[in-house]
Amino acid sequence: MKVIAIANQKGGVGKTTTAINVGTALAATASRVLLIDLDPQGNASTGLGVSRADRATSSYDLLVGDASLSEAAIATQVPRLDIVPATVDLSGAEIELIEFDARTHRLDRAVQRSDARWDVVLIDCPPSLGLLTINAMVAAHALLVPLQCEFFALEGLSQLLSTVERIRSRFNPGLSILGVVLTMFDRRNRLTDQVSDDVRAVLGKVVFDTVIPRNVRLSEAPSHGLPALIYDYRCVGSQAYMALARELILRLPNVAKAAA
Ligand code: ADP
Ligand code: MG
Repeated sequence: MKVIAIANQKGGVGKTTTAINVGTALAATASRVLLIDLDPQGNASTGLGVSRADRATSSYDLLVGDASLSEAAIATQVPRLDIVPATVDLSGAEIELIEFDARTHRLDRAVQRSDARWDVVLIDCPPSLGLLTINAMVAAHALLVPLQCEFFALEGLSQLLSTVERIRSRFNPGLSILGVVLTMFDRRNRLTDQVSDDVRAVLGKVVFDTVIPRNVRLSEAPSHGLPALIYDYRCVGSQAYMALARELILRLPNVAKAAA
């Protein structure tokens, strides 16, 4: 079971869109996928059509309670794609967790308690580097980092990477960067091209060849409770996510958790 956290402390860079559509693409290749919604806003849960009534057990129960992944996971409409939904309770979890000794390892323990019936676990992180994201980084083998092609992109990234360094040295030495994916790419915008060149010059091969274009179908799909890949699999956004999933699958064998 490979655990991948989708993280970037900036909001609105495409974390949730990437989690939903990469999850769907991987499930389409016969992998059994679990998406853990770790954002109190619950956008991944809503975007996959999980109603409030179906969120009786949630990611809050993984962190603050003692629920296992199997107890908290429910099926989505997408075959082989399960989800641990998020509820607003989660917004209080950062504070409640302070009481716990192993507050950075709550999610990791929930993952360890699991019977590993999934091939890939994707964690959709909130837009911060607080305890929720730290729990995801401690539990994960690798990070997938969506990066929006805008002027301050690299600046935010250095903050993320120094957090990754701290997590490596203190808790999770094997944590790797599976890749950085450029999102909301707009060919008509010259700044986008320039940012993309800069990011590739600085980060090199860790950046996926595939870029995710700005595509209105990707933003429409969640209001229908469907992944774009099902809402409109032909749109350029869906095609890009399939290409990304293909690249990601090739990198997965390199991902393994080193003994702490
Ligand atoms: P995050 O999870 O990082 O906050 P989201 O995935 O929720 O980001 O994306 C933020 C908003 O932008 C959402 O409304 C989403 O539908 C939209 N969006 C995400 N990726 C794209 C894209 N490639 N093209 C157009 N809209 C996008
Ligand atoms: Mg999100």
